[in-house]
Amino acid sequence: MSPREKITIAGAGPVGTLLAVILARHGHRINLFESRPDSRVKSIYQGKSINIALSDRGWLALASVGLEQQVKQQAIAMHKRVMHAIDGSITEQAYGTQEQAIWSVSRAGINEQLLDLAEQEPLIAIKFDQRLVDVDFDSASADFMHEHTIEKVSADILFGADGAYSKVRRLAQETPRFSYSQAYMPQSYIELHIPANEDGSFKMAKDALHIWPRKKFMLIALPNPDGSFTCTLFLDFQGDVSFSSLTQRTDVEQFFQTNFADAMALLENPVDEFLAKTANPLFLLKVDPWVINDKVALIGDAAHAMVPFYGQGMNCGFEDCRELGELITLHKHDWSKIFPGYQAARKINADAITELAKRNFVEMSELSGQAKFLLQKQIEAEFHKRHPTLWTPLYSMVTFSPNLPYSQALAIGDIQQKIMQEIMQISNIENCWQEDFVYEKLQELAQVSVSANHSHYTTDSKTGEQKND
Ligand SMILES: Cc1cc2nc3c(=O)[nH]c(=O)nc-3n(C[C@H](O)[C@H](O)[C@H](O)COP(=O)(O)OP(=O)(O)OC[C@H]3O[C@@H](n4cnc5c(N)ncnc54)[C@H](O)[C@@H]3O)c2cc1C
Repeated sequence: MSPREKITIAGAGPVGTLLAVILARHGHRINLFESRPDSRVKSIYQGKSINIALSDRGWLALASVGLEQQVKQQAIAMHKRVMHAIDGSITEQAYGTQEQAIWSVSRAGINEQLLDLAEQEPLIAIKFDQRLVDVDFDSASADFMHEHTIEKVSADILFGADGAYSKVRRLAQETPRFSYSQAYMPQSYIELHIPANEDGSFKMAKDALHIWPRKKFMLIALPNPDGSFTCTLFLDFQGDVSFSSLTQRTDVEQFFQTNFADAMALLENPVDEFLAKTANPLFLLKVDPWVINDKVALIGDAAHAMVPFYGQGMNCGFEDCRELGELITLHKHDWSKIFPGYQAARKINADAITELAKRNFVEMSELSGQAKFLLQKQIEAEFHKRHPTLWTPLYSMVTFSPNLPYSQALAIGDIQQKIMQEIMQISNIENCWQEDFVYEKLQELAQVSVSANHSHYTTDSKTGEQKND
C-alpha cells in the first residue's frame, strides 16, 4: 500500500508517539519531531521517576496498539486511596470493586515504550533535538530548529502534540477566530521522594495511592517498582501558608512537623528538597477550535492541559488518539469529515474532564478526610453493587468506564450528587446506612432522574452529538 497523507507531529511525548503509531498503522507517513534529546540514549530525567496514574481509558488506547500488557508488566495496581490524618491515623477507600484499580506507571517509562514501538513502524521517522519554531497554518508546513539551523518540513497535515506549553497552540493564537483561555490554580507543586527500605520493600502499603489531605494543601504518594514512592506536595503559591511564605528552614521544618509528622519519618530530605526546588504552576486551558484550516490540529495537553487531580490528563490524551483512529476508519480517510468529527467528539469531553479535575482538588484535599463524605461513597458503592445498571459512582464512570464519554459522566455525576445530598439528610444515616429502606429510597430517586434526564445518556461518542430520544 502506498502511504496516504504525509503527516508531521510536533512532540514525541506519550500522546504524540501513540498518535504516530496509530496514524502509521492507517498507512500515513509520519515525521515525528521532538525538541528534547532521546531519553533512552541521554538521561533527561535526573534519575528521578515521575509516575502517574493510568486507568481504563489509557489502557484501552494502549490495547488498541497492542502495548497494554507490556506496560502493565512495569505498572503497580492501586486498588484504594489511603488517607493519612494529621494525628497519624489511617482510613482507606476502595476505588471501585475488588478487581478494579488505577495503575502507577512511570511517565518516562511509558514514553520510552511507545518510542520503541514507533521505531518498529516503517512509516515513522523520529527526529530528536528538533524544536518546532514556526507553522504555516495554510499549508501545514513547519520550521524545525536543530542546533542553529532551521529546516522547513512540508506536510499534508500537522498535529501539535507538544504539551501544555505548546508552541503550535501559541502560534495558532495569531490565526483568526481562535479562542483561548488559561486559568492558574492557586496551588503549585513540587515532587518529593520516599525511598525503599534497605531490603527494597515498600515503607507503606504498595497497592494504594496515599493522600495526606490538609484542606488547603495536600501531599500524595504513588508507588514505584523499586520500592520507593514518588510524592507530590500541592500547596498555594501565595498566601499565609504557601511556597512564597515558607522560605526559612525553621518555618519549613515546622510546616512539615505540624502537618505531615508521620510522612516526615519516611520522606528523604523533605526540607532541603522544599527549599531547593522551584514550585511548578498548575493551570487549565481551553481552546477552540482544535483544528485550523483542516490542516493543523491540536491533541493531548496541547489542546486541553488540565490540573492533575483526577489523574486523567494522559488518559484523556490517549483517548484523543484512539478516537481519532476510529474516526479515520469510520470516515474512510476523508479528513474533511475526520477533523470535524474529531473536534466534535473530543472537545466537549476534554472540557468535561477539565472541569471534573478542577473540582476534584476539594474532594482529595478536604472531603477525603471527612467521615461523612466517606460514608456517602460507601453508600454509593453499596447501591452500585445492588443496582449496577442504575448507578455507577462518578469516580468509576470517569476511571473505569472507558466507553462512557467524560461529558456524560459529568452530567450524570451532577444528578447523582443532588440525589445523594437528599440521602445524606436521612436522620441517623451514620447508623442506618445499611438498612434496605435507604437503598429503596435511593432506587426511587435514581429511577425518576434517569427517566427525566434520559437525553444525557445518549450522546453519540463518535460525533459528539447530543441525541434526544
Ligand atoms: C503533577 C502532575 C501529575 C499528573 N498526573 C497524571 C496522572 O496521574 N494521570 C494522567 O493521566 N495524567 C497525569 N498528568 C498529566 C500528564 O502528565 C499529561 O497529560 C501528559 O504528559 C500529556 O502528554 P502529551 O504528550 O500531550 O504532552 P507532554 O507529556 O508534555 O509531551 C509533549 C512533548 O512535546 C515536546 N515538545 C514541546 N515543545 C516542542 C516543540 N516546540 N517542538 C517539538 N517538540 C516539543 C516535549 O519535549 C514533550 O516531549 C499529570 C501532570 C502533572 C503535571
